[in-house]
Order: sequence, then structure tokens, then C-alpha cells
Amino acid sequence: MMQMIEGICAGCGQSQLVSVVDPIGTNDAAQRANELATKKCGCEESKKITAWITTLEVVHRVCGPEGENAGFEKIDLDAETGVEEVARLVFDRTVDKAQIELAKSVITIKPKGDGVSITRKSTLEIGE
Ligand SMILES: [Zn+2]
Repeated sequence: MMQMIEGICAGCGQSQLVSVVDPIGTNDAAQRANELATKKCGCEESKKITAWITTLEVVHRVCGPEGENAGFEKIDLDAETGVEEVARLVFDRTVDKAQIELAKSVITIKPKGDGVSITRKSTLEIGE
């Protein structure tokens, strides 16, 4: 079921009607509506916020289930939080590029457009 509710842009505070599909609870629906309103708004601040949300999603994908599906070792939540923190530094352009070695892989974070690109490469090695 779809529902039209008012969401508020987290960047500029402008409200607009957005459609939320199958809201689970009142809080979830409001949160979802705010996210959608922020995505739709297009103000400078909303673009930054949306790019950061996307970055967090990618961090979670490469560290979490998608990484495991691709054959990588699981990265625990503490380490994932660390990757998020480093991603923030690159996102804010505080550092130019970062590489993190963990769980037999290298995660490379570099600037891309308004956000960052995040890739994970295996460092599996045999021999001596
Ligand atoms: Zn806005």
C-alpha cells in the first residue's frame, strides 16, 4: 500500500509530499518520508546529505553481506565503523585518498563526484 505523507528536507527544512510504500510504523514512515524529501529536494545541502547516505550504504555493502557473497571475509561492526570514519575524511576532502587493510583485503576510498568511490580487493597471497 502506498501513502502520501509530508517529508522534511534535512538540508533546508522545506517540506514536500512524498509517497511511502508500506510504512511499517509511524516513526519509520516519517523517517522514510524525510529521507525521500531530502533526496527529492535538490538543494546544495540535500545533495551532500544524500551523497553521504549513499556512501554509508556502499560501506555497509562492501563490509557486510555483499562482501561475503563475493567471497570476502566478514568485517565486524567496530571495523565497519572505522571504515565509515575514514570514508568521512575522504568525503569531506580532508584526506585525498585512503586505503585500509583488513580481513585479508584492501579497501580503497577515493573522491568521486560529490561523494567517494569505495572498492575492496582481496590480498590473498600464497608462497613465501
Ligand atoms: Zn533542501
